[in-house]
Amino acid sequence: MTETIQLALKTLEAQLNQPLETALEACARCGLCAEACHYYRAEPKVEHIPAFRAEQLRSVYRYEHDFLSRLFPVWTGAKKLDEPMLANLTEIAFSQCTLCRRCTVNCPLGVDTPLMMRAIRAMATASGTAPEILVMLADAAIEKGKDPSFYKEMFLEQIKEMEEQLRDVTGDENATIPVEKQGAKILYVPLAGAHTILPPAVVFNAAKEDWTLSIFEASNYGVFLADVNRAKQVAKRIVDEANRLGVKEIVIAECGHAYASYRWDVPNWFAGQFDFKVRSLIEVLGDYIREGKIKVDPTAIPEGVTYHDSCNLARNGGLIEEPRYVLKNVAQDFREMTPNKDEAICCGGGGGLVALAEYAERRIAAGKPKADQIKQTGAKVVVAACENCRLQIGDINEHYNLNVKTTAITDLVVRAMRLPKPLPGHEAEYLFEGEGAAIARE
Ligand code: SF4
Ligand code: SF4
Repeated sequence: MTETIQLALKTLEAQLNQPLETALEACARCGLCAEACHYYRAEPKVEHIPAFRAEQLRSVYRYEHDFLSRLFPVWTGAKKLDEPMLANLTEIAFSQCTLCRRCTVNCPLGVDTPLMMRAIRAMATASGTAPEILVMLADAAIEKGKDPSFYKEMFLEQIKEMEEQLRDVTGDENATIPVEKQGAKILYVPLAGAHTILPPAVVFNAAKEDWTLSIFEASNYGVFLADVNRAKQVAKRIVDEANRLGVKEIVIAECGHAYASYRWDVPNWFAGQFDFKVRSLIEVLGDYIREGKIKVDPTAIPEGVTYHDSCNLARNGGLIEEPRYVLKNVAQDFREMTPNKDEAICCGGGGGLVALAEYAERRIAAGKPKADQIKQTGAKVVVAACENCRLQIGDINEHYNLNVKTTAITDLVVRAMRLPKPLPGHEAEYLFEGEGAAIARE
């Protein structure tokens, strides 16, 4: 047995707990999960049935844990793990499953197929066969956390420039983007790029929020690798920052996996050091609108708008009504996709797949059911509160000629705030109404 296989099997053993063993043992082979999976809906073939994928790991588990299977593997379909099998498992887990959990909620036994796919991802990561780019991105984030000083100077310069833009578009000379503000109430954690900093900064300033911007990004590639050790190191940067600044809550940018991990996993990983409320930026927007802290013009967006539920936000995160509340306050013509909410079909970009160029063709093919849903709404704007979903919807938009505009919720809210000037890069979307287009700020 090679060292690679030893490491993979050791990692499988280390993960075995009640939920994983239950998933590995319980499957009625009924096939009801097939239609739940967007891969199968896009291309109905046996390899795309969730239970078939899970069976590839089950065969290894049986060989290792079932006495009869070791003696008569052909009878039970057990298989001894070898390098080609590990390569096949790795490909399945990283390119044919977005960990969307739609199969689990549609399985009469609740079989947790994505948990098994995560187990494979962890085996691949530990044995050095996981996609290199995900490992590099996770390790780069960890390194940045060890010594942010080199990067910080450049970041602060960029923030100064963004602050100028913020003052320009809002017409407010006192608008700021505070960084490392001691004792602020909210630590807002963006993604990489001004597009996740400037629009929220407009909103926070308008609401007169006591906030500060994190110097780190919310995304966590350790989560996609199912590598808890790496994922914890990436998350620790923000936990330490929040503790150092003494904030009350952490607000996560529009990002599915980051929200789900900070909401559900991180508080467990850092029990005793994590005394923060965690909210998505979408919840904050909803509260500001509800409490009148920001004023939005409900007539600002006349074109048809539809919303894609990110699996991590809706099915896995429980954020279902809040985005709809916000959108219905800014868009005149809001249209639901069918099915939606916790039954929403995955766009095909989750689980880190948008970062894996080698599987782009497969990812876009699996996005066909989402493309069909979007087409059926007839909407011209598709809102997604997750960067990975937006990238995927952008790709399927082009591939399937949907002719839609993809945007984040915050961008629409800012548009409905009727700033004196449009946000950079969004000029074409704004419908100015002359005298009525006053900045909506008390
Ligand atoms: S995973 Fe669930 S739905 Fe799929 S075949 Fe097994 S029991 Fe049936
Ligand atoms: S988690 Fe989603 S992508 Fe993965 S097998 Fe289940 S339905 Fe398919």
